[in-house]
Amino acid sequence: MSDAADLTKPYPNLFAGDVDWTCGAGWYPLLRRLFDQLEPMAAEARVSFPDRPLHVVQVKQKLGGLRVYVLGGAAEPVREKLLALIREAEEEAERTCELCGQPGSMRELRGYYTPRCDAHAWRGAQAKTSKRHLRSIDAGAG
Ligand SMILES: [Zn+2]
Repeated sequence: MSDAADLTKPYPNLFAGDVDWTCGAGWYPLLRRLFDQLEPMAAEARVSFPDRPLHVVQVKQKLGGLRVYVLGGAAEPVREKLLALIREAEEEAERTCELCGQPGSMRELRGYYTPRCDAHAWRGAQAKTSKRHLRSIDAGAG
């Protein structure tokens, strides 16, 4: 995951340890905006809680939604603001194609849900249709 490694590099406070990272590159721009805001908060929290530094442990797609999990200590107003910013990013992700970052909406793809733009919405469905189409040609020829 070199892409994710490049993404986390500018945020040494937020990404102090290992991160469990499983989400599509379409969400990287909104994650970058989120981390831009969280990094100074993590640096500030680290001063008050040096033995429990605030950091991101997991960035993942769960049931079609973005989830950002953070561990560590933070004073109450910082903590509240941090959770609000994460929630905002998670809401934005629900309207953002996970593949390309274009505006999208939640779609069902092969039984699971994921936000996709119109161009990426029916990729799975198209593959199925063309297979069925081939079969019907075979049947006609035989
Ligand atoms: Zn897309």
